[in-house]
Amino acid sequence: MSDLIAKIARPEIAALTPYQARGGAPKNAIVLDANENPWAPPGATGTWNRYPAQQDADLCARMAGLYGVSQDQLLLTRGADEGIDLLFRATCRAGHDAALITPPTFGLYEVAAKVQGAALVEVELDENYTIRASAISMAAGDNPVKLIFLCSPNNPTGNLIPRQDVLDLTKACPDQLVIVDEAYIEFSGGQSLSGDLAGYPNLVVLRTLSKAYGLAGLRLGAVLANAPVIDLLRKVLPPYPLPVPVIDAVMTALDPVNMPVYAQRIAVLKAQRVRLYEGLKSARGVKAIWPSAANFLLVQLRENEGIAARLKAAGIYVRDFSALGTGLVRIAVGTPAENAAVLAAFGITQDDALPERIAAISRQTQETSISVLVNLDQTSPVGIETGIGFFDHMLEQIARHGGFSLVLTARGDLHIDAHHTIEDCAIVLGQALRQALGNRAGIGRYGFTLPMDEAQARVAIDLSGRPALRFEANIDDAGAGQMGGQMVAHVFETLSQHLGAAIHIEAEGENTHHLIEAIFKGFGRALRPALARRGTDIPSSKGVL
Ligand SMILES: *Cc1c(COP(=O)(O)O)cnc(C)c1O
Repeated sequence: MSDLIAKIARPEIAALTPYQARGGAPKNAIVLDANENPWAPPGATGTWNRYPAQQDADLCARMAGLYGVSQDQLLLTRGADEGIDLLFRATCRAGHDAALITPPTFGLYEVAAKVQGAALVEVELDENYTIRASAISMAAGDNPVKLIFLCSPNNPTGNLIPRQDVLDLTKACPDQLVIVDEAYIEFSGGQSLSGDLAGYPNLVVLRTLSKAYGLAGLRLGAVLANAPVIDLLRKVLPPYPLPVPVIDAVMTALDPVNMPVYAQRIAVLKAQRVRLYEGLKSARGVKAIWPSAANFLLVQLRENEGIAARLKAAGIYVRDFSALGTGLVRIAVGTPAENAAVLAAFGITQDDALPERIAAISRQTQETSISVLVNLDQTSPVGIETGIGFFDHMLEQIARHGGFSLVLTARGDLHIDAHHTIEDCAIVLGQALRQALGNRAGIGRYGFTLPMDEAQARVAIDLSGRPALRFEANIDDAGAGQMGGQMVAHVFETLSQHLGAAIHIEAEGENTHHLIEAIFKGFGRALRPALARRGTDIPSSKGVL
């Protein structure tokens, strides 16, 4: 046992032989070792009849990759919340040991301490909500403190603790575990401390998929620490903490093709955070507001402005923190429309109140995995990665000339050929455009166009909701790049089906590359006025599209 573990572990846990969960049976073995039922129930979408591994190997590999640690530095838990609980149960004897917290901070540390019967040492944050490092190390030395909890960015104050301050404190407190709860780190632009584990045996980092990855309902978090600490915590982890459907769903959600979508959504939330902060800062009803590195803002309401009642009347729930200070509330950053509602409750109306038309679609089949995010009311970012250079270039033409933001990542069976990938990208792009258009209120609906070099493409679109394609162009079967000539008409056929649009294309030209590019560009150009929103009317005499 390492010196550190001898100091921090409850002796009875250090000595414990953990419960033996099922061993890893080889594939195709007849597994009769866990008294399971041989049949999964009707409707099961996975091996629901089998106990999961205590730590699923594939999920561990994925999460270790996500957080940039090795697999022996990682423990998967039911949310970061369970990680907090495990830390207490592994280290604190009731009536003996203590944990140090830095209020105001996340309330669960205190609750978990009380559940375990651990004492609490409190070293308050200073008036700027930063940690008082020397007071912390002094208090930890004077008391039987096993755990020091830091939260960065801190909930509910929103500020990030500088990385070097945490590392200095970790050095200064070698006999305690210094736990940095990074539930919101993805929103901060700051660097996770997970990369510093090697040099700091007593450092522990908590991460979660609940906040930045929108997976709060699945309950998956991780404790990152050096192997001896992980091994200790594993002893108090239940044998089968993560349900099979959760493991399957997280693996699907964390498919690498989805990563650009998460990055884009985090960027949107950060921009919305600025919008809310700037709006609320100037609101009459706001007495104080703190800058935030997380996806929420701590706000102090002015008394007698009736803001709380107005929020309630608008059906907006915010978290009351009046126990911390008069009028304090914590407001999470929501969708652009939700944030507009919050601002309106504070008497701030903005002329961009029409919600942006955004859609995100993820589609997985045996042949392809594709993830797409479109925003018809922003022109950037445009980022395309399908593995087919020429097709990337063509989709980029659609987005740039169409004047909308498109993030599309695909991984397909290119070892067969480009067909499935191109076709499925067209399906998903069509679906995303259709979803983002919603009821098509206010759109131009029609668009026309365009000559290009020696080639000419005339593209006409009607976003009518009814699919139809007329395609007249002689494209050499060899096509361009990895994209066969026949795929061009196929892309637009597929788009018209899934977008719900009549697309008429006529094109001619000498050079195949030019010809194809003219068609894609022309399509983008035609799409631009058709997508553009000028009002709120449905552009149809029928009143629906
Ligand atoms: C939300 C939150 C958590 C909980 O994360 P889960 O993974 O959902 O359990 C942990 N720490 C802080 C500071 C939080 O705000």
